[in-house]
Amino acid sequence: MKTYRVLVIPGDGIGKEVTACGKRVLERVGEKFGHRFVFEEALIGHAAIEATGSPLPDETIEKARATDAILFGAVGHPDYDNDPSLSVRPEQGLLKIRKELGLFANLRPIKPFDELLDASPIKPEVLKGADILFFRELTGDVYFGERGRREGGNVAYDTMVYARYEVERIARKAFEAARSRRRKLTSVDKANVLESSRLWREVVNDLARQYPDVTVEHLFVDTAAMKLIKDPRSFDVVLTGNLFGDILTDEASQIAGSMGMLASASLGDTVGLYEPIHGSAHDIAGKDVANPLASILSASLMLDISFGLKPEADAVTEAVAQTLREGFRTADIADARTPGEKVLNTEAMGKKVTERI
Ligand code: NAD
Repeated sequence: MKTYRVLVIPGDGIGKEVTACGKRVLERVGEKFGHRFVFEEALIGHAAIEATGSPLPDETIEKARATDAILFGAVGHPDYDNDPSLSVRPEQGLLKIRKELGLFANLRPIKPFDELLDASPIKPEVLKGADILFFRELTGDVYFGERGRREGGNVAYDTMVYARYEVERIARKAFEAARSRRRKLTSVDKANVLESSRLWREVVNDLARQYPDVTVEHLFVDTAAMKLIKDPRSFDVVLTGNLFGDILTDEASQIAGSMGMLASASLGDTVGLYEPIHGSAHDIAGKDVANPLASILSASLMLDISFGLKPEADAVTEAVAQTLREGFRTADIADARTPGEKVLNTEAMGKKVTERI
Protein backbone atom coordinates (compact mmCIF):
# COMPACT_ATOMS: atom_id res chain seq x y z
CA MET A 1 0.00 0.00 0.00
CA LYS A 2 1.45 3.35 -1.00
CA THR A 3 1.65 6.11 1.59
CA TYR A 4 0.98 9.75 0.71
CA ARG A 5 1.83 12.48 3.23
CA VAL A 6 -0.61 15.39 3.31
CA LEU A 7 -0.07 18.53 5.35
CA VAL A 8 -3.39 20.14 6.30
CA ILE A 9 -3.19 23.90 6.91
CA PRO A 10 -6.75 25.02 7.71
CA GLY A 11 -5.91 28.66 8.55
CA ASP A 12 -8.75 30.96 9.59
CA GLY A 13 -12.51 31.42 9.44
CA ILE A 14 -14.29 29.02 7.10
CA GLY A 15 -10.87 27.63 6.12
CA LYS A 16 -11.13 25.32 9.13
CA GLU A 17 -14.68 24.20 8.31
CA VAL A 18 -14.15 23.42 4.62
CA THR A 19 -10.71 21.84 5.00
CA ALA A 20 -12.15 19.28 7.42
CA CYS A 21 -14.44 18.16 4.55
CA GLY A 22 -11.57 18.00 2.04
CA LYS A 23 -9.56 15.88 4.46
CA ARG A 24 -12.47 13.48 5.05
CA VAL A 25 -12.79 12.98 1.30
CA LEU A 26 -9.12 12.00 1.06
CA GLU A 27 -9.58 9.52 3.93
CA ARG A 28 -12.51 7.98 2.08
CA VAL A 29 -10.49 7.72 -1.14
CA GLY A 30 -7.81 5.94 0.89
CA GLU A 31 -10.33 3.36 2.20
CA LYS A 32 -11.97 2.83 -1.19
CA PHE A 33 -8.87 2.62 -3.35
CA GLY A 34 -6.41 1.12 -0.88
CA HIS A 35 -4.04 4.05 -0.32
CA ARG A 36 -2.70 5.31 2.95
CA PHE A 37 -2.93 9.07 3.52
CA VAL A 38 -0.93 10.27 6.51
CA PHE A 39 -2.01 13.68 7.77
CA GLU A 40 -0.19 16.34 9.72
CA GLU A 41 -1.50 19.79 10.66
CA ALA A 42 0.15 23.20 10.74
CA LEU A 43 -0.75 26.80 11.56
CA ILE A 44 -0.91 29.87 9.34
CA GLY A 45 -2.54 33.30 9.29
CA HIS A 46 -4.42 34.71 12.24
CA ALA A 47 -4.48 31.33 13.99
CA ALA A 48 -0.66 31.28 13.81
CA ILE A 49 -0.30 34.89 14.97
CA GLU A 50 -2.43 34.10 18.02
CA ALA A 51 -0.39 31.00 18.86
CA THR A 52 3.14 32.11 17.95
CA GLY A 53 3.16 35.80 17.00
CA SER A 54 4.06 34.97 13.40
CA PRO A 55 1.65 34.47 10.44
CA LEU A 56 3.97 31.74 9.11
CA PRO A 57 5.89 29.95 11.88
CA ASP A 58 9.14 28.19 10.90
CA GLU A 59 7.57 24.90 11.97
CA THR A 60 4.90 25.27 9.25
CA ILE A 61 7.54 25.81 6.58
CA GLU A 62 9.56 22.82 7.82
CA LYS A 63 6.49 20.58 7.71
CA ALA A 64 5.57 21.95 4.25
CA ARG A 65 9.00 21.09 2.88
CA ALA A 66 8.75 17.54 4.24
CA THR A 67 5.30 16.63 2.89
CA ASP A 68 4.01 15.32 -0.46
CA ALA A 69 1.13 17.81 -0.83
CA ILE A 70 -0.64 20.53 1.12
CA LEU A 71 -4.39 20.95 1.66
CA PHE A 72 -4.87 24.61 2.48
CA GLY A 73 -7.92 26.51 3.80
CA ALA A 74 -7.85 30.32 3.92
CA VAL A 75 -6.33 33.18 5.90
CA GLY A 76 -7.76 36.45 7.14
CA HIS A 77 -9.36 38.14 10.12
CA PRO A 78 -11.72 41.15 10.33
CA ASP A 79 -9.53 42.99 12.87
CA TYR A 80 -6.80 43.20 10.23
CA ASP A 81 -9.08 44.01 7.28
CA ASN A 82 -10.31 47.07 9.17
CA ASP A 83 -6.87 48.26 10.25
CA PRO A 84 -4.42 48.42 7.33
CA SER A 85 -1.76 49.95 9.58
CA LEU A 86 -1.02 46.67 11.41
CA SER A 87 2.40 45.45 10.27
CA VAL A 88 1.99 41.75 11.14
CA ARG A 89 -0.94 40.44 9.06
CA PRO A 90 -2.57 37.04 8.42
CA GLU A 91 -2.26 37.23 4.61
CA GLN A 92 1.53 37.63 4.90
CA GLY A 93 1.52 33.95 5.86
CA LEU A 94 0.02 32.95 2.52
CA LEU A 95 2.23 35.24 0.41
CA LYS A 96 5.30 33.96 2.25
CA ILE A 97 4.51 30.26 1.97
CA ARG A 98 3.99 30.68 -1.80
CA LYS A 99 7.34 32.44 -2.06
CA GLU A 100 9.21 30.02 0.25
CA LEU A 101 7.95 26.96 -1.62
CA GLY A 102 8.42 28.57 -5.06
CA LEU A 103 4.72 28.11 -5.92
CA PHE A 104 4.66 30.32 -8.98
CA ALA A 105 1.74 28.87 -10.93
CA ASN A 106 -1.82 28.92 -9.65
CA LEU A 107 -4.14 26.73 -11.74
CA ARG A 108 -7.85 27.49 -11.46
CA PRO A 109 -10.16 25.27 -13.50
CA ILE A 110 -13.56 26.83 -14.19
CA LYS A 111 -16.13 24.42 -15.52
CA PRO A 112 -19.69 24.82 -14.32
CA PHE A 113 -21.55 21.69 -13.27
CA ASP A 114 -24.66 21.37 -15.47
CA GLU A 115 -26.73 21.09 -12.28
CA LEU A 116 -25.62 24.59 -11.25
CA LEU A 117 -26.19 26.49 -14.48
CA ASP A 118 -29.15 28.21 -12.84
CA ALA A 119 -27.08 29.19 -9.77
CA SER A 120 -25.03 31.63 -11.85
CA PRO A 121 -26.16 35.20 -12.54
CA ILE A 122 -25.09 34.55 -16.15
CA LYS A 123 -27.63 33.03 -18.57
CA PRO A 124 -27.41 29.20 -18.74
CA GLU A 125 -27.25 29.22 -22.54
CA VAL A 126 -24.14 31.45 -22.38
CA LEU A 127 -22.50 29.23 -19.75
CA LYS A 128 -23.22 25.71 -20.85
CA GLY A 129 -20.06 24.01 -22.04
CA ALA A 130 -17.66 26.64 -20.66
CA ASP A 131 -14.37 25.02 -19.66
CA ILE A 132 -11.55 27.40 -18.76
CA LEU A 133 -8.20 26.72 -17.13
CA PHE A 134 -6.64 29.82 -15.59
CA PHE A 135 -2.90 30.10 -14.99
CA ARG A 136 -2.36 32.94 -12.54
CA GLU A 137 1.25 33.89 -11.79
CA LEU A 138 1.72 33.84 -8.04
CA THR A 139 5.11 35.07 -6.87
CA GLY A 140 5.64 38.35 -8.75
CA ASP A 141 3.74 41.53 -9.70
CA VAL A 142 2.64 44.36 -7.38
CA TYR A 143 2.31 41.86 -4.53
CA PHE A 144 6.09 41.60 -4.24
CA GLY A 145 7.43 44.77 -5.93
CA GLU A 146 8.85 47.75 -4.13
CA ARG A 147 6.26 49.76 -2.23
CA GLY A 148 6.20 52.67 0.12
CA ARG A 149 5.12 56.17 0.98
CA ARG A 150 6.75 59.50 0.25
CA GLU A 151 5.99 63.18 0.64
CA GLY A 152 5.12 62.83 4.29
CA GLY A 153 2.98 59.76 3.69
CA ASN A 154 0.67 61.51 1.26
CA VAL A 155 1.86 59.64 -1.82
CA ALA A 156 1.86 55.83 -1.91
CA TYR A 157 3.25 53.50 -4.56
CA ASP A 158 3.39 49.79 -5.41
CA THR A 159 5.59 48.53 -8.22
CA MET A 160 4.50 45.99 -10.83
CA VAL A 161 7.66 44.03 -11.60
CA TYR A 162 8.14 40.95 -13.79
CA ALA A 163 11.37 39.27 -14.83
CA ARG A 164 11.60 37.35 -18.13
CA TYR A 165 12.21 34.03 -16.36
CA GLU A 166 9.11 34.51 -14.18
CA VAL A 167 6.88 34.96 -17.21
CA GLU A 168 8.56 32.22 -19.16
CA ARG A 169 8.24 29.46 -16.56
CA ILE A 170 4.49 29.93 -16.07
CA ALA A 171 3.86 30.53 -19.77
CA ARG A 172 5.54 27.20 -20.52
CA LYS A 173 3.20 25.41 -18.12
CA ALA A 174 0.22 27.13 -19.74
CA PHE A 175 1.33 26.20 -23.28
CA GLU A 176 1.84 22.57 -22.19
CA ALA A 177 -1.65 22.50 -20.66
CA ALA A 178 -3.17 24.03 -23.82
CA ARG A 179 -1.59 21.21 -25.81
CA SER A 180 -3.50 18.64 -23.79
CA ARG A 181 -6.77 20.60 -24.12
CA ARG A 182 -8.27 22.61 -27.02
CA ARG A 183 -4.95 24.17 -28.04
CA LYS A 184 -5.87 27.78 -27.45
CA LEU A 185 -4.03 30.11 -25.11
CA THR A 186 -5.29 33.57 -24.18
CA SER A 187 -2.64 35.75 -22.57
CA VAL A 188 -4.09 38.65 -20.58
CA ASP A 189 -2.12 41.84 -19.93
CA LYS A 190 -2.33 45.63 -20.16
CA ALA A 191 0.41 46.09 -22.74
CA ASN A 192 -1.12 49.31 -24.07
CA VAL A 193 -0.17 51.00 -20.79
CA LEU A 194 2.24 48.93 -18.66
CA GLU A 195 5.90 48.18 -19.40
CA SER A 196 5.80 44.94 -17.38
CA SER A 197 2.90 43.84 -19.62
CA ARG A 198 4.94 44.63 -22.74
CA LEU A 199 7.65 42.29 -21.46
CA TRP A 200 4.96 39.71 -20.61
CA ARG A 201 3.63 39.82 -24.20
CA GLU A 202 7.13 39.66 -25.69
CA VAL A 203 7.97 36.51 -23.69
CA VAL A 204 4.68 34.81 -24.57
CA ASN A 205 5.23 35.55 -28.27
CA ASP A 206 8.82 34.24 -28.12
CA LEU A 207 7.64 31.02 -26.50
CA ALA A 208 4.73 30.64 -28.93
CA ARG A 209 7.26 29.78 -31.67
CA GLN A 210 7.97 26.53 -29.78
CA TYR A 211 4.25 25.69 -29.73
CA PRO A 212 3.06 26.22 -33.32
CA ASP A 213 0.13 23.87 -32.66
CA VAL A 214 -1.29 26.25 -30.00
CA THR A 215 -3.29 29.30 -31.12
CA VAL A 216 -2.27 32.36 -29.11
CA GLU A 217 -4.54 35.33 -28.50
CA HIS A 218 -3.61 38.45 -26.50
CA LEU A 219 -6.31 40.37 -24.65
CA PHE A 220 -6.13 43.50 -22.55
CA VAL A 221 -7.38 42.80 -19.07
CA ASP A 222 -10.38 45.12 -19.41
CA THR A 223 -11.52 43.33 -22.57
CA ALA A 224 -10.90 39.95 -20.94
CA ALA A 225 -13.10 40.94 -17.98
CA MET A 226 -15.92 41.80 -20.37
CA LYS A 227 -15.51 38.70 -22.56
CA LEU A 228 -15.51 36.32 -19.61
CA ILE A 229 -19.13 37.24 -18.93
CA LYS A 230 -20.20 37.78 -22.53
CA ASP A 231 -18.67 34.68 -24.07
CA PRO A 232 -17.01 32.36 -21.51
CA ARG A 233 -16.95 29.50 -24.01
CA SER A 234 -14.45 31.37 -26.18
CA PHE A 235 -11.69 30.68 -23.60
CA ASP A 236 -9.57 27.55 -23.18
CA VAL A 237 -6.33 28.24 -21.26
CA VAL A 238 -5.95 31.76 -19.84
CA LEU A 239 -2.51 32.96 -18.77
CA THR A 240 -2.13 36.08 -16.68
CA GLY A 241 -0.22 37.87 -13.93
CA ASN A 242 -0.81 37.88 -10.20
CA LEU A 243 -3.05 40.95 -9.85
CA PHE A 244 -5.12 40.48 -13.02
CA GLY A 245 -5.50 36.77 -12.22
CA ASP A 246 -6.65 37.52 -8.69
CA ILE A 247 -9.44 39.75 -9.96
CA LEU A 248 -10.45 37.83 -13.09
CA THR A 249 -10.78 34.48 -11.30
CA ASP A 250 -13.10 35.95 -8.66
CA GLU A 251 -15.17 37.27 -11.54
CA ALA A 252 -15.00 33.89 -13.25
CA SER A 253 -16.16 32.15 -10.07
CA GLN A 254 -19.63 33.35 -11.02
CA ILE A 255 -19.44 31.13 -14.10
CA ALA A 256 -19.24 28.19 -11.68
CA GLY A 257 -22.06 29.61 -9.57
CA SER A 258 -20.21 30.63 -6.39
CA MET A 259 -16.86 31.38 -4.82
CA GLY A 260 -17.51 28.21 -2.85
CA MET A 261 -17.18 26.07 -6.01
CA LEU A 262 -13.71 27.02 -7.24
CA ALA A 263 -10.67 24.92 -6.44
CA SER A 264 -7.06 25.71 -7.21
CA ALA A 265 -3.62 24.17 -7.34
CA SER A 266 -0.49 26.20 -6.61
CA LEU A 267 2.50 24.57 -8.23
CA GLY A 268 6.20 25.15 -8.58
CA ASP A 269 9.05 22.73 -8.83
CA THR A 270 8.47 20.96 -5.51
CA VAL A 271 5.40 20.37 -3.35
CA GLY A 272 1.89 21.36 -4.57
CA LEU A 273 -0.54 23.37 -2.47
CA TYR A 274 -4.27 22.90 -3.03
CA GLU A 275 -6.78 25.50 -1.88
CA PRO A 276 -10.19 26.98 -2.58
CA ILE A 277 -9.96 30.40 -4.24
CA HIS A 278 -12.17 31.97 -1.57
CA GLY A 279 -11.00 33.66 1.62
CA SER A 280 -11.87 33.15 5.26
CA ALA A 281 -15.37 34.69 4.76
CA HIS A 282 -15.88 36.21 8.21
CA ASP A 283 -19.50 36.97 7.40
CA ILE A 284 -20.35 33.25 7.50
CA ALA A 285 -17.48 31.77 9.57
CA GLY A 286 -18.39 29.54 12.49
CA LYS A 287 -21.97 29.08 11.27
CA ASP A 288 -21.50 25.77 9.44
CA VAL A 289 -23.02 27.22 6.25
CA ALA A 290 -19.93 27.57 4.01
CA ASN A 291 -19.81 25.55 0.81
CA PRO A 292 -17.10 22.86 1.21
CA LEU A 293 -17.09 21.83 -2.47
CA ALA A 294 -14.14 24.08 -3.42
CA SER A 295 -12.02 22.36 -0.78
CA ILE A 296 -13.26 18.93 -1.85
CA LEU A 297 -12.50 19.73 -5.50
CA SER A 298 -9.07 20.98 -4.40
CA ALA A 299 -8.49 17.53 -2.87
CA SER A 300 -9.46 16.06 -6.25
CA LEU A 301 -6.85 18.25 -7.98
CA MET A 302 -4.26 17.04 -5.45
CA LEU A 303 -5.04 13.39 -6.23
CA ASP A 304 -4.64 14.04 -9.95
CA ILE A 305 -1.69 16.44 -10.09
CA SER A 306 0.52 15.62 -7.09
CA PHE A 307 -0.23 11.89 -6.76
CA GLY A 308 -1.09 10.92 -10.35
CA LEU A 309 -4.29 9.22 -9.11
CA LYS A 310 -6.62 10.24 -11.95
CA PRO A 311 -9.40 7.63 -11.40
CA GLU A 312 -9.50 8.59 -7.71
CA ALA A 313 -9.65 12.29 -8.64
CA ASP A 314 -12.48 11.59 -11.09
CA ALA A 315 -14.34 9.59 -8.42
CA VAL A 316 -14.33 12.68 -6.18
CA THR A 317 -15.52 15.01 -8.95
CA GLU A 318 -18.23 12.53 -9.92
CA ALA A 319 -19.34 12.26 -6.26
CA VAL A 320 -19.74 16.07 -6.23
CA ALA A 321 -21.74 15.95 -9.50
CA GLN A 322 -23.95 13.15 -8.17
CA THR A 323 -24.61 15.02 -4.91
CA LEU A 324 -25.67 18.08 -6.93
CA ARG A 325 -27.79 15.93 -9.27
CA GLU A 326 -29.65 14.58 -6.25
CA GLY A 327 -30.59 18.18 -5.41
CA PHE A 328 -28.31 18.80 -2.43
CA ARG A 329 -27.07 22.39 -2.15
CA THR A 330 -25.37 24.68 0.31
CA ALA A 331 -27.04 28.07 0.79
CA ASP A 332 -24.72 29.92 -1.64
CA ILE A 333 -25.74 27.74 -4.61
CA ALA A 334 -29.37 27.16 -3.64
CA ASP A 335 -32.11 28.57 -5.82
CA ALA A 336 -35.49 28.85 -4.09
CA ARG A 337 -37.25 28.57 -7.48
CA THR A 338 -35.91 25.08 -8.15
CA PRO A 339 -38.23 22.35 -6.83
CA GLY A 340 -36.70 19.44 -4.93
CA GLU A 341 -33.60 21.24 -3.71
CA LYS A 342 -32.38 20.33 -0.24
CA VAL A 343 -30.17 22.88 1.49
CA LEU A 344 -27.46 21.38 3.69
CA ASN A 345 -24.92 22.86 6.05
CA THR A 346 -21.16 22.49 5.55
CA GLU A 347 -20.61 19.26 7.42
CA ALA A 348 -23.67 17.53 5.98
CA MET A 349 -22.69 18.50 2.42
CA GLY A 350 -19.19 17.12 3.03
CA LYS A 351 -20.70 13.90 4.36
CA LYS A 352 -23.03 13.47 1.34
CA VAL A 353 -20.11 13.77 -1.09
CA THR A 354 -17.91 11.46 1.01
CA GLU A 355 -20.62 8.77 1.06
CA ARG A 356 -20.92 8.93 -2.72
CA ILE A 357 -17.25 8.15 -3.42
P1 NAD B 1 -14.06 35.84 0.76
O1 NAD B 1 -13.67 34.99 -0.39
O2 NAD B 1 -13.70 35.36 2.10
O3 NAD B 1 -15.66 36.05 0.71
C1 NAD B 1 -16.30 36.76 -0.35
C2 NAD B 1 -17.80 36.43 -0.33
O4 NAD B 1 -18.01 35.10 -0.81
C3 NAD B 1 -18.40 36.48 1.07
O5 NAD B 1 -19.71 37.00 1.00
C4 NAD B 1 -18.44 35.04 1.51
O6 NAD B 1 -19.46 34.75 2.43
C5 NAD B 1 -18.65 34.31 0.19
N1 NAD B 1 -17.98 33.01 0.22
C6 NAD B 1 -16.64 32.79 0.13
N2 NAD B 1 -16.39 31.47 0.23
C7 NAD B 1 -17.59 30.86 0.39
C8 NAD B 1 -17.97 29.51 0.58
N3 NAD B 1 -17.08 28.50 0.60
N4 NAD B 1 -19.28 29.23 0.72
C9 NAD B 1 -20.19 30.21 0.69
N5 NAD B 1 -19.90 31.51 0.51
C10 NAD B 1 -18.60 31.83 0.36
O7 NAD B 1 -13.45 37.29 0.49
P2 NAD B 1 -13.48 38.59 1.42
O8 NAD B 1 -14.77 38.66 2.18
O9 NAD B 1 -13.11 39.70 0.53
O10 NAD B 1 -12.29 38.39 2.44
C11 NAD B 1 -12.43 37.82 3.74
C12 NAD B 1 -11.04 37.57 4.31
O11 NAD B 1 -10.39 36.56 3.57
C13 NAD B 1 -10.12 38.79 4.26
O12 NAD B 1 -9.41 38.84 5.48
C14 NAD B 1 -9.23 38.52 3.10
O13 NAD B 1 -7.96 39.13 3.25
C15 NAD B 1 -9.11 37.03 3.14
N6 NAD B 1 -8.82 36.37 1.85
C16 NAD B 1 -8.03 35.28 1.91
C17 NAD B 1 -7.80 34.54 0.76
C18 NAD B 1 -6.99 33.28 0.87
O14 NAD B 1 -6.71 32.83 1.98
N7 NAD B 1 -6.62 32.66 -0.23
C19 NAD B 1 -8.38 34.93 -0.45
C20 NAD B 1 -9.21 36.05 -0.47
C21 NAD B 1 -9.43 36.76 0.69
